Amino acid sequence: MISVVIPVMNEESGIENNINTIIKNIPEDYEIVLVDDGSKDTTWEKIKEMSNKNKKIVGVRFSRNFGKEAALMAGLAHTRGDAVITMDSDLQHPPEAIPEMIEKWKEGYKVVEVRKNKRVKESIFYRMSAGLFYNILRKLSGLDMKNSTDYKLMDRAVVDKICEFKEGQLFFRGVVEWVGFEKCILNFDFKEREIGKSKFKFSSLFRLALNAITSFSSSLLYLTAFIGVIFFIAAIILGIQTIVNKCMGIALEGFTTIILLQLIIGSLVMFCLAIIGIYVGKIYEETKKRPQYIVSEVYGKD
Ligand code: UDP
Ligand code: MG
Repeated sequence: MISVVIPVMNEESGIENNINTIIKNIPEDYEIVLVDDGSKDTTWEKIKEMSNKNKKIVGVRFSRNFGKEAALMAGLAHTRGDAVITMDSDLQHPPEAIPEMIEKWKEGYKVVEVRKNKRVKESIFYRMSAGLFYNILRKLSGLDMKNSTDYKLMDRAVVDKICEFKEGQLFFRGVVEWVGFEKCILNFDFKEREIGKSKFKFSSLFRLALNAITSFSSSLLYLTAFIGVIFFIAAIILGIQTIVNKCMGIALEGFTTIILLQLIIGSLVMFCLAIIGIYVGKIYEETKKRPQYIVSEVYGKD
C-alpha cells in the first residue's frame, strides 16, 4: 500500500477537487493522510466529509497552526503504507509524477525526489533569495538541495528513521537528505497554483531558512574562532610595530602600554569566546540526539 501525506491549511476552495485528481493518479492501493494545520476555514469539515465518503482518507487535525514541517512529520507518523509520498494540496506538485515515483521505488530506490524543471513564475527576488539560501546551506552543512521540494517518495525504512527524529524545529527536506539511502531524482514541470494563494509569507520563509541553516550546521558558532585567529594575527603585527616605534623613540608617552593591553585583552576575549562557541556547538549537536549512523542493510548474518 502507498500512503500519501498532504499538509493542508485554509484550502477549503480547492481541496476536494485536488484530492480527487491526486487519487486518480495513484495506480495501486493507497491511503491518504490529510493533516489540517490549524485551518481557520471549513477545511476540516471538508476533510471529514471526504473521509466519510472514502474510507481510505484519514484526517489529522492540529489544535492550531504548527507549520508545514510539523504537519508533514505528523502525517508520516500516521501512515501505514510500504512507501509514503509527501506532497502539497494545491496540485503544484504534479500528480502525474506518482506512477513514475512508485516505479522507481519498485526498482529499489528508497527515496525518490521530484525536483522542479524550472521555477515557475517566481519573482527574481524569490529566485535569488532561494539560490542564496541553498548556497549558504550547502557551504555550511554540505547538503546540496538546489531546486529541491517537499514532493518525495520514501520507503517505510526511511520513514521509520525520520519518525525517530525528536528535534523540535525540523527542516523536513534537510532531514530526508541527511538520512541518506539510495536516492533517485526525477525532474518535472511545476505548475502555478490555480486556486487560492501561497500560504507562506516572506517572514515565515525567512524563519524557515534560518531554522534550516542553524539546525544543519553549527558552523556559525565557529565563526568566533575564525575571527579570533584573524584578530590575533593583526594583533601580532600591530604589537610588533608598536614595540618597534617605542624602541626607536617615536612612540607617544604611555601609548605603547595602552595599545599592547588592548591587543592582549582583545585576543584573549576572542580566544575564550571561541572555546565557548566550540563547546556550545557540541552541546547543540548532542541535544538534537540524532542517530550516530543509519544502517540501510546487513548482509550475510543470520
Ligand atoms: N501549508 C501548511 N501549513 C502552513 C502553510 C502551508 O500545511 O503553515 C500547506 C498548504 O496548505 C499546502 C502546502 O503546505 O498544501 C504548500 O503550501 P503553499 O502552496 O501555500 O506554499 P508554496 O507553494 O507557496 O510553497
Ligand atoms: Mg503551493
